Amino acid sequence: MSERTSLDTICASLCTIMGVDIPKCAAAPCQVLTDYADNAFAGERADRIFMYNPDAIAEWIYRKYPQFTAAMTARTDFELPLDCVMPSVTPVCFGTMYTGAQPDIHGIKGYKKPVIQIDTIFDAIIRSGKKPVIIAQTESSLAKIYLERDMDYFIYDTVEEIHAKTAELIMADEYDFYVVYNDTYDTIMHRYGPESTEALAALYANAQTFAEMSVLIEKHWKQHNTVVGFAMDHGCHEIDGGCGSHGLDMDEDIQIVHRYKAYPKSM
Ligand SMILES: [Zn+2]
Repeated sequence: MSERTSLDTICASLCTIMGVDIPKCAAAPCQVLTDYADNAFAGERADRIFMYNPDAIAEWIYRKYPQFTAAMTARTDFELPLDCVMPSVTPVCFGTMYTGAQPDIHGIKGYKKPVIQIDTIFDAIIRSGKKPVIIAQTESSLAKIYLERDMDYFIYDTVEEIHAKTAELIMADEYDFYVVYNDTYDTIMHRYGPESTEALAALYANAQTFAEMSVLIEKHWKQHNTVVGFAMDHGCHEIDGGCGSHGLDMDEDIQIVHRYKAYPKSM
């Protein structure tokens, strides 16, 4: 087993950064991430967290093609290499990201999208009196596995609608914890391969979109201590026929890199 930090630390880290009680089954927080926010906010808690969740952008893709993620890396300054969980597929990994629990505990152990029944970050945030929101694509894992909570969900067929709604919500500034999903790299990588022109264009577009959202956040959330994250679920590898896949216990599928930035309040 590797010595890398597990994806299961993210949930408790985000709760700690916000000053929210940690969900019941969550693994301990990642100290370097919580220390990063503590230092940025001089010991204060964050009152906004914005998680941008692109699907399937592997560490090896991020390392090999920095030119296509430059807009995102310029807008983040904390890099956190992580190992996702097995099987390395979307509902399993996003299940772990927002419960802090291993698949055996949160209950999604394959490519299925049931509503998670255990305590989640969304439940913990609601209990603390704060408002979470999910903006995701129709039929995606993030549009399904965290349903049935007393919170708002904005589910759309297209990424353009997701982006437009997200921009509107950032400017309205009525929620405390945002989860925004983007499936394009994953969908295109499966069809054309992880290093295809089409997939790398999707990688570039994800970085651009994240940067655009970061500009809006910096402009409209000056009164908040905010953390933004560029946080994928798992990686990917090339398979025969020029296609892409994931789900295996191999470095290409397991190793990912989250990027974060803290914006201390400035008014
Ligand atoms: Zn995925």
